[in-house]
Amino acid sequence: MAKDLNKIEFNHNIEEFEKNYYENDKSKYPLINNLGYDLYDSNDNQSISDDERIDMILKLESKFAEIMDIMRISRHDPNSTHTPYRVAKMFVNELFAGRYTNPPKITVFPNRKHVNNLIISQGIDIMSVCSHHWQTISGKCVVGYIPGDYVVGVSKLSRIVEWFSRRPQIQEELGEQIADYIQSILQPKALGVVIKAKHYCMISRGVEESEEDTEMITSVMRGYMLNDQSLRNEFLNLIKDF
Ligand SMILES: [Zn+2]
Repeated sequence: MAKDLNKIEFNHNIEEFEKNYYENDKSKYPLINNLGYDLYDSNDNQSISDDERIDMILKLESKFAEIMDIMRISRHDPNSTHTPYRVAKMFVNELFAGRYTNPPKITVFPNRKHVNNLIISQGIDIMSVCSHHWQTISGKCVVGYIPGDYVVGVSKLSRIVEWFSRRPQIQEELGEQIADYIQSILQPKALGVVIKAKHYCMISRGVEESEEDTEMITSVMRGYMLNDQSLRNEFLNLIKDF
């Protein structure tokens, strides 16, 4: 019993320490970096030139080498020799690619037949990274909409989802960003964006949930999908096994 109380006391102190430490530090967080570039939210976007990209990767390489030195990992180990460069390139060109690239080119087509029913694209891959721990978020996304004046190719929906996923994210905001963007280019009468994903920051660390069982589901509904219960049921019924 005494041991448990000690533990609670200890956790409490750690929380207090972290709270003070971060709150006091907040005013010191910079708004620009030492090259004069604006700092912006992890899941936001500003496209960069090829020169800026190369520069970013090389600067990161030296920092990742420093991190390895701090962690006492030798780069004489042949498996670690080029790791700083590999990791730098992976973050800029792959895991965080959606922060630095232009939006995908989207062509919309007129809804000539006045389609007034649900169009659903499912099985869209989500491969993202949580902004809290930079651990993998992996899952699937479904987009369903009833067109207004325009329709869009299903492959374009995948590109939109990918563009927003390839940033440090939280799943709740990812769904909203995807919905906002589709709304802005298509102005559909109804829209639903459902994401089902595994968060490896809950699997490989923290609460250490089992890989098979843990999943987070978020849904964003817009337009008729918000108010028309039978339409929403139809949508959710059609995607129930996704
Ligand atoms: Zn996390």
